[in-house]
Amino acid sequence: MPSPPESCLFCRLAADGDHVHAANGFVAIRDINPIAETHLLVLPVRHVDTFRDIDAFPDDEAGKMLRFVAETAASAGLDDYKVLVNVGEGGGQTVFHLHWHVLGGRFDTGKLSRALALETA
Ligand code: AMP
Ligand code: ZN
Repeated sequence: MPSPPESCLFCRLAADGDHVHAANGFVAIRDINPIAETHLLVLPVRHVDTFRDIDAFPDDEAGKMLRFVAETAASAGLDDYKVLVNVGEGGGQTVFHLHWHVLGGRFDTGKLSRALALETA
């Protein structure tokens, strides 16, 4: 279920977390349960529940957010990496404050398939 901003973990971390990168209303933090050698999360400081609500961002802010994702990866020393957004419970979203996973280096494939909400045989 969506979290209202007053009880939202990522609102708190966006305001007062250990930021590896921050600019223009966006922050990047380390994922607490990394599924790859480098696993960062990019969050807008402003609360938006999910990527489904991307229209909440004007075009220029949405563009800044994408640029910030790329800057975060570059500042972590990543050239090749994955960017992942889980959308809705069925898409594997567990925290209902929009965030982008930036994943680089070696993966834990078991955790990766769980994070992707993939069925495994
Ligand atoms: P998702 O499943 O796409 O909603 O991603 C939520 C992510 O937030 C997961 O990868 C969690 O490991 C991560 N996470 C949960 N709590 C924290 C926290 N306190 N600090 C950093 N990352 C967290
Ligand atoms: Zn929030």
